[in-house]
Amino acid sequence: MTRIVWHKGAFMPENEAQVSIFDRGYLFADAIYEVTGVVGGKLVEYEGHAARLQRSLAELGIPCPLTPEELLAVHREIVARNDLDEGLIYLQLSRGPADRDFVFPANPEPTLSLFTQAKRVLENPQAGRGISVISLPDLRWARRDIKTVQLLYPSMAKMQAKAAGADDAWLTQDGTVTEASSATAHIVVGGTLITRPLSNDILHGITRASTLDLARGAGIPVVERAFTLREAQIADEAFITSATNFVLPVVSIDGAPVGDGKPGPVTRRLREIYIADRLSRAI
Ligand code: PLP
Repeated sequence: MTRIVWHKGAFMPENEAQVSIFDRGYLFADAIYEVTGVVGGKLVEYEGHAARLQRSLAELGIPCPLTPEELLAVHREIVARNDLDEGLIYLQLSRGPADRDFVFPANPEPTLSLFTQAKRVLENPQAGRGISVISLPDLRWARRDIKTVQLLYPSMAKMQAKAAGADDAWLTQDGTVTEASSATAHIVVGGTLITRPLSNDILHGITRASTLDLARGAGIPVVERAFTLREAQIADEAFITSATNFVLPVVSIDGAPVGDGKPGPVTRRLREIYIADRLSRAI
């Protein structure tokens, strides 16, 4: 099926969307992106993703060609035009084309594109059985709080995980876990949810923020502190959060089972609460 994408100010069939070889997204990875889940044709946690988009753009000084109202309208229309029931919307915004130079162009003309991916995000078989991860050193740049398209290292980490027969990688820095290759990492010890505090070391996950709020609301204590890989391996439970996976159990780390090697009760409960609450608020 040919998707309808939004590209440089208009909807068009995906094979008609073109980007200049001088686009700074292509030459310098000078671009940011956002991913919003769609369930039942509605946008999940749109406000959070829209706010983080503005933050990423402000950090890099990239102007947004659309107003917040126009951006929301494009998100809604791309769902309608692709008849998308369940899946994801990717938004990508680069500083635009300019003759190659490390210095930013004075008058950028940003390239904004949005495309959809149909995907069964609710009926995820991994939610029932959990995923396995390997640990790898976090070799990404030090501004992971900005959602840039510099995804080569996460991509390499996923390839290494696959080659090792695992589903994903948890990245470590000075012995502590930063995050998963494309999700936030959490553990549960003695009923308490432990997760790394926000800083430039990690992406400020929208699903992370909601999950922590919902956990507190459900009486699950939350401690925001860095945890070591060893702590994760001997934790009762481990899980990841992201717009694509919601709350997803991690059942083994570097070949060692987490807890009894099955998705734990706190993780399962949080997945249920998250899906019930955030889907009821989808717009
Ligand atoms: N951390 C990284 C590195 C990610 O790439 C992602 C999602 O793509 C997340 C965390 C989770 O963020 P969110 O919950 O906003 O999807």
